Amino acid sequence: MRDIAADKITDGVRQACIEACRDLPDDVLDALKRSLEIEDSPATFCSAGTSCPRRTRGRDVLEQLIENARIAREEQMPICQDTGIVLVFVEIGQDAHVIGGDLTEAINEGVRQGYNEGYLRRSVVRHPLDRVNTGDNTPAVVYTEIVPGDHLKITVCPKGGGCENMSAAKMLTPAHGREGVNRFVVETVREAGPNPCPPVIVGVGLGGTLEKAALLSKKAILRKVGEPSPNPVDAELERELLEAVNETGVGPAGYGGRVTALAVHVESYPCHIASLPVAVTLQCHAARHRTFSI
Ligand code: SF4
Repeated sequence: MRDIAADKITDGVRQACIEACRDLPDDVLDALKRSLEIEDSPATFCSAGTSCPRRTRGRDVLEQLIENARIAREEQMPICQDTGIVLVFVEIGQDAHVIGGDLTEAINEGVRQGYNEGYLRRSVVRHPLDRVNTGDNTPAVVYTEIVPGDHLKITVCPKGGGCENMSAAKMLTPAHGREGVNRFVVETVREAGPNPCPPVIVGVGLGGTLEKAALLSKKAILRKVGEPSPNPVDAELERELLEAVNETGVGPAGYGGRVTALAVHVESYPCHIASLPVAVTLQCHAARHRTFSI
C-alpha cells in the first residue's frame, strides 16, 4: 500500500487548473494549424474592396484562434473568459491510500486555490434553480475509477458552458443501427451551429447505459486530437462521422466552411440487447485539459 498525501493532490489540481486555462495543448494547436490548409469558406474582402482567395472568413477565424492561443500562452492569460466548470477524472490504484485528508475535498481545495490564484472566472452555481454563485468554482465534477496498482492519475478539464449546453444524449434502439447513430451525431452538430464555438472536437459515447454513454463521450474529448480509436469499428465510424460533420458547412465560428470539427472521437462499451445508447459531447476549440500523476 502506497500513501499519497492529500495536500499533494490539492497542489497538483491547483497547478493543473491554472495551466489548463492558459495553455492550449499542442495537439489542439497543431490541429487548428492543419485545418488552415483545408478551410475554404467564403472569401473576405481586402482593404481595396476586392475578394481575396487566400483570405476567407473561416481562415480568418482560425488564424485568430491560433493567435489567441499564442497570446494566452506567452502572457499567461486565460484562453477564454469562460474558464468552465471543472471536470476531474481520477484513476486511483487499489493499492494507493490517500492520507491527511479526503480525496474529493483535496480536489475541490485545488480548484478553489487555482481559480483564485489564476484569476479565473467562477462559473458554478450552488443549485440549478436558485443560481447563487458558489464564489470559488467548486464543486468540481469528479469521476473516480479504481484501477490496478498504487498510482494516482488525475486529469483536469475546465469545460465551457457554451459547448456543454449543445451536447446531447439519446436512447436509440438496435433497429436504428449505425445510420441512426450517424444521424443523431450529425444533427446534434448541425443544430448547435455556432453556439459551441467551432471548430469543435466531437466526443461520441456509444453503448453501456444512458449515463455510461455520456461519460464515454466526455472521455472521448480527452484523447489526442485525431488519434484514431484502437477499435477498428470505432475508428471507421470516426472517419465517416468527421466527413459528415464537416459537410454540414457550419465552419469556424459558424461563419460557414469545411472545418466544423477538428476530430470525432468514439468510445464504445457493450450494452443491453434492447438498447443503443448514444451521447455526444461537444468540446469547443478551447479544448483545455491537463493530466498529472503522483
Ligand atoms: S464554448 Fe468554449 S470557446 Fe466558447 S465561450 Fe465557452 S469556453 Fe469559450
